[in-house]
Amino acid sequence: MARIFVVANQKGGVGKTTTTVNLAAALTKLGKRTLLVDLDPQGNATMGSGIDKRQLKASIYQVLIGLADVVEATIVSPSGGYGVVPANRELAGAEVELVDFDERETRLKDALAQVDDRYDLILIDCPPSLSLLTLNGFCAAHGVIIPMQCEYFALEGLADLVNTIKKVHANFNTNLKVIGLLRVMFDPRVTLSQQVSAQLQQHFGDKVFGTIIPRNVRLAEAPSYGQPGVVFDPESKGAKAYVEFGAELIERLRKLDETQTS
Ligand code: ATP
Ligand code: MG
Repeated sequence: MARIFVVANQKGGVGKTTTTVNLAAALTKLGKRTLLVDLDPQGNATMGSGIDKRQLKASIYQVLIGLADVVEATIVSPSGGYGVVPANRELAGAEVELVDFDERETRLKDALAQVDDRYDLILIDCPPSLSLLTLNGFCAAHGVIIPMQCEYFALEGLADLVNTIKKVHANFNTNLKVIGLLRVMFDPRVTLSQQVSAQLQQHFGDKVFGTIIPRNVRLAEAPSYGQPGVVFDPESKGAKAYVEFGAELIERLRKLDETQTS
């Protein structure tokens, strides 16, 4: 059975897509069968995986409105080796069109059931909003990965996000939990980063992943080559941190399984 994770934060530009793409590539390197679902009309995860969003035969949009299934829409990332259900601008229309559907918040969940035994992990990249698309991500997932920049306003936004996750848990998906908070674009020379990081650990304890993703220009350069940073420059600090994060996530899941079966 596939474990499904949604990478979410309603704040824009906090590193959701960089995290989804590099985690997918890292998990693939670590031998996990991985699928990335691009749930953002910007299509950045699609492009960053080396797939041209302007030339898609089928995308997540067709999947959500029932015109294609996940297998038909999946393309293997030529650079990363993982499966991608791609997205482009067309997806922006889904928000409006889905309003007429019954159970519109579980369209993605229902569609992913088809590939449940084909993948070990499925990662969903969300747009920077708490929209119907993000709600579909939350309803489909077992866990939320929250990338955070350690800045002053980051904590404020986090409270809204945690409240939304609680509401989804109560009303739509009792499986949903926060798997962890990931500190990204971290600059240890900035005192505020260290202070916010310490506050995060105080408030959220074990929920904060031990791995810290540093600010690293190679991660920012990689998408313009259609490659995950993990593939583009495996020796860079950013790439190494994402591979380490992949291993930490696998370990965290193993421990979760143990506590559930004991
Ligand atoms: P959006 O909300 O628009 O979807 P996002 O949360 O997906 O944005 P990204 O696109 O991943 O954020 O990152 C925003 C910008 O920061 C991008 O230009 C990306 O290349 C850069 N970036 C992300 N992580 C890092 C990092 N660790 N070091 C340096 N640059 C980074
Ligand atoms: Mg993004």
